[in-house]
Amino acid sequence: MIIGSHVSFSRDGLLGSVKEALSYNANTFMFYTGAPQNTIRKPIDALNIIAAKKLMQENDIDINNVICHAPYIINLANNLDEKKYDFSIYFLAQEIKRCEEMHVKYIVLHPGSSVGIERSIALDNIVFALNKILKNDSSVTILLETMAGKGTEIGCTLEEIKYLIANVAKKELIGVCLDTCHLNDAGYDLKDFDAFLQTFDTVIGLNYLKCLHLNDSKNPLNSHKDRHANIGFGQIGFDTLINIIYNEKLANIPKILETPYIGDTDEDKKRIYPPYKFEIAMIKDKKFNPNMLNDIRAYYKDN
Ligand code: FE
Ligand code: FE
Ligand code: ZN
Repeated sequence: MIIGSHVSFSRDGLLGSVKEALSYNANTFMFYTGAPQNTIRKPIDALNIIAAKKLMQENDIDINNVICHAPYIINLANNLDEKKYDFSIYFLAQEIKRCEEMHVKYIVLHPGSSVGIERSIALDNIVFALNKILKNDSSVTILLETMAGKGTEIGCTLEEIKYLIANVAKKELIGVCLDTCHLNDAGYDLKDFDAFLQTFDTVIGLNYLKCLHLNDSKNPLNSHKDRHANIGFGQIGFDTLINIIYNEKLANIPKILETPYIGDTDEDKKRIYPPYKFEIAMIKDKKFNPNMLNDIRAYYKDN
């Protein structure tokens, strides 16, 4: 199984990301090249790439399974502010260059939000931007993430994702990242996951599926909320998620946890702890641990 989580990138560049992933017993990871909300980025030579690669090799982490996530502030859907739209295109192209330098093959992208324009026009804005960005020879594939449909988010139906892919010229550089929380919130019932994959294959094609974001959801089916929950602690539930994780058609696809950090019960401390080591263990065991939140607090408290 190829499994990991979102990890930090800021402390030590890529090297810090690898160390963090290893501390969770992960064999892959996903990172943002800087804070997801802004566009301040470190120069590429400060990212400890060579040391990171060496550590990955020693620990059997395949760079081909490592995922980058584009920052949220990129919005390719809306072009009412031409400067902002152009900047989104420019910045995504820069992020792709950074991935190339690190030999990272995949970058996950939220298609965008239409905010005040027609959805059909928003879709065409995304297509235009993608065709501009993917024009040059590149080794990086953009993975369109399926969205929850919060606000005016584009990409909350398989048909919208299909439209984007159908109109991108460089189809070898485009793919899809499924997010289980988003699918649930968008109204796709994951209980019969084989049926969902069948639909996905008919509408888009399974060959485009390259990554899975693994999250439970705080909200019920079709709620359009996008609030992630820890594995087994939400409305999708442990058994349904395990069934998805172990689906043989997804065997070679990196699975990335983006579940929330756990707060300390002693609120004065204001400390939060990553759940990923424990969630990965639970997934490998295929056994739900109802005490997980307390186990995490106990484990990290004194570290
Ligand atoms: Fe995302
Ligand atoms: Fe996601
Ligand atoms: Zn989300």
